[in-house]
Amino acid sequence: MRWTPRPRRCPVNGDGSLERLKREGRIVVVGASLAGLRAAETLRDKGFAGSLTIIGDEPYEPYDRPPLSKQVLLGKATADGTSLPRRRSVDATWRLGVPATGLDMPAKRVRLADGDEVPYDRLLIATGVRARPWPREAEAELDGVFVLRTRDDAAALARRLDEGPKRVFVIGAGFTGSEIASACRERGLPVTVAERAAAPLAGALGGVVGAVAAGLHRQHGVDLRCGVMVTALEGDASGRVRAAHLSDGSTVETDVVVVSLGATRNTGWLAGSGLGAGPRGIACDAGCRAFDIRGIVTDDIYVAGDVARSPHALFGYQFLSLEHWGNAVAQAGIAAHNMLSESTDRLPHMWMPAFWSSQFGVNIKSVGVPSLGTEIFISQGLLEEHRFVGVYGYQGRVIGAVAFDHGRWMPFYQELIETTAPFPPPFLTVDRRSEGQQPMDADYPDPSVPTHGPTVTLSGYSPADRRMTFTPAH
Ligand SMILES: Cc1cc2nc3c(=O)[nH]c(=O)nc-3n(C[C@H](O)[C@H](O)[C@H](O)COP(=O)(O)OP(=O)(O)OC[C@H]3O[C@@H](n4cnc5c(N)ncnc54)[C@H](O)[C@@H]3O)c2cc1C
Repeated sequence: MRWTPRPRRCPVNGDGSLERLKREGRIVVVGASLAGLRAAETLRDKGFAGSLTIIGDEPYEPYDRPPLSKQVLLGKATADGTSLPRRRSVDATWRLGVPATGLDMPAKRVRLADGDEVPYDRLLIATGVRARPWPREAEAELDGVFVLRTRDDAAALARRLDEGPKRVFVIGAGFTGSEIASACRERGLPVTVAERAAAPLAGALGGVVGAVAAGLHRQHGVDLRCGVMVTALEGDASGRVRAAHLSDGSTVETDVVVVSLGATRNTGWLAGSGLGAGPRGIACDAGCRAFDIRGIVTDDIYVAGDVARSPHALFGYQFLSLEHWGNAVAQAGIAAHNMLSESTDRLPHMWMPAFWSSQFGVNIKSVGVPSLGTEIFISQGLLEEHRFVGVYGYQGRVIGAVAFDHGRWMPFYQELIETTAPFPPPFLTVDRRSEGQQPMDADYPDPSVPTHGPTVTLSGYSPADRRMTFTPAH
C-alpha cells in the first residue's frame, strides 16, 4: 500500500531538537540482521550524521536467512556466502557477538552482556525470532538433532547432510520443515516428516492447500506422517540420535533429526524493562513506535521486523506479527524514517503481507493473510495439477491469496485485497479451469490445538475471541 503524506502546513522543529538529533544524536539498533541493517542504511540515507551503534549477538555481519533452507542445504551456496548485499556504506560502530541483556528506559541505556552500557536518544529493536527448540533438553542435545535459524545452524546441518545420513527426520511441516524435506530429497536422502496437523502447511494455508502440499511431499518420495506427534527422541550409547518415537506407536530409525517447530520471539532481554514486550513480540503503533506495558506509546523506542507486532488497517486493525522477509525490509525503512521525523511527517507501516517459498520444484507465493480466511476459492488452474491460485475469503471479502507456480498473478490479487473486493471474486480469469466450482471451507486446523502455526500471527484482541478475559486492576 502507498501512503502519501500531506504537505506540511506549519513549520516544524520549532525547538530545533530534531535537527540536533540528526546532527549529533545517538541512535542504537539492537539486532544486526535484515531489519537492523536496512534501518541503519535508511538512517544514513536520510541524513542522520550522529553516532550509530549496531548491536548483534551473532558474531557475523548481517546475512540472509531464506537461502539457509534452500541453496545452502542443497550445497549450491555456503552458509558463510549469504551476507546481505549493502545498499550503501553504513558508518556505524558494530558491536557484534555481544547480546543486549537489558534496557533501562528512564536512563535511555541498553545493557550489554559484557557489562557495557550504550546510551541512546533513539533506539530501534530488531531482535527477530529464534527457532523453537525441541522441548526435552536432554534429547535436544543429542548429536544429530538440529534446528535451522542461523548461519551456524545451516552450516552444521549442511555438513551432516554431506556425510550422507541413513535418514533425515523432520519434525514439523511448516514452510521451513517442508523446504528442508525438499532439499534433502533433492540430494537423494531418505526423508520422514512428522506433522501434528492433518497436512503440511495447514496452519498457514489451510487443509485444502495442505492436501496439495502433502501430495507434493509424497510424489517426491517423502515418508509423510500427518496427524501424529513425536513423543521422544532416542540416542545410542555414544549420545547420537538413533530413533524417533511417534504417538501412533511407530518408531522411525534416523541419524539426523531437524526440529522445525516454528519460532519464539527474542524479547527475553526486555523483561522488567517496562516495554510492552512478551512472547507474542513487541507491540508497536502503525508508525513502529513501541508501546510500554501500560499501552502508552513511547517516543524514542521503535520496533521492526519479525519481533514486531503492529496494527494493520486492512485487517481490522488486528496486530500482525509477520515472519516475512519483505516485511522486515519495509518496516525497517518506515521505522528509520519516523525516528528522524516530526509527528506530522511520520508514515504508517501498511505493508501488504507477502511471502514466498520454494519446495519440491514448486514456487509458492502468498499475499494478504490467508490464515484469516475461512473459505477458499480456486480462481485459476487446478489443485490436482499443483498449479493454481487459491483466493481466501473472510466475511464476504477477499483477504488473501496463494499461488502454486502462478506467482506472476499476485499483484492482481494484492489489489483485490487492498480494495476489499467481494468474495468470491466476481471476475473471470484467463485460465479459469475450475468452472462450476464453489468456494469451500479453507479447512484450517482448530487454533486451540497446537500445530505448526502460520507465519502471520494475529496477535491482537478480537471480539470473536471468547478465550480472553478483561480484568481491570481496580
Ligand atoms: C531458514 C529460513 C528460511 C526463510 N525463508 C523465507 C522465505 O522464503 N520467504 C520469506 O519471506 N521469509 C523467509 N524467512 C524469514 C526471514 O528470513 C525473516 O523474516 C527475516 O530474517 C527477519 O529479519 P529480522 O531482522 O526482523 O530478524 P532476524 O533475521 O531474526 O534477526 C534478528 C537478529 O537479532 C539478533 N538478536 C536477538 N536477540 C538479541 C539480543 N538480545 N541482542 C543482540 N542481538 C540479538 C538475532 O540473533 C538476529 O541476528 C526465512 C527464515 C529462515 C530462518
